[in-house]
Amino acid sequence: MKYGSLLLYIMLCFCLSSCRSDSYKSSASQDFEPVACLDINHKALNDRQWQAIKAAASDVCGIFHSSEFQSRLNNKLWLASCEKVKGKPDSVTGPEIYKLLTEKRQRFCIYARKLHDAEGETDNDDNNPNNNRISIDPALIEGWYSPIDTQRSQLINVIAHEYVHLLSDRFLDYDDNAPTGCSDDILISYNTGDIAEAIWLDKHRRK
Ligand SMILES: [Zn+2]
Repeated sequence: MKYGSLLLYIMLCFCLSSCRSDSYKSSASQDFEPVACLDINHKALNDRQWQAIKAAASDVCGIFHSSEFQSRLNNKLWLASCEKVKGKPDSVTGPEIYKLLTEKRQRFCIYARKLHDAEGETDNDDNNPNNNRISIDPALIEGWYSPIDTQRSQLINVIAHEYVHLLSDRFLDYDDNAPTGCSDDILISYNTGDIAEAIWLDKHRRK
């Protein structure tokens, strides 16, 4: 029993010191490559995947900085999350979110990993942008090379959506426990992805 506890303790210490950093290693500032409005590092992406990410991320930047995107965001009052803030919906205005999306260069490290479809995370504990990361299912990255536009555009949607999560941990997705009246129709993370994808498709759809 004693040995059992000791072993558990050793395992716990080992895990606390290495498990988290093993799954996501923080990047160093010099590891990031400028890609349009972003600075991106990548972990173990092959060249084909990296080229896809760079091309799609450049397109996302172009869309974020377009008047079309700005006016579609400005159209509506969005929700940052399904949480209630002092009993009220966690609203965010179009101009507020547009400013956050465009005011400064964001950096993140990209991983090709199947968790769900994708996941964006930021480390707000220490507010260190070198810890921002986005994981994307390799199949979604490969979709960039598809002859079907609506498959290619999914990578635009995913990058734009995950980007919102990097801005602040205030921006959350829908979950099943959300109060009534909250839906992904008005959550800003989904809509940033959907609007960016729609604009991209308008421009790139093969006629
Ligand atoms: Zn999300």
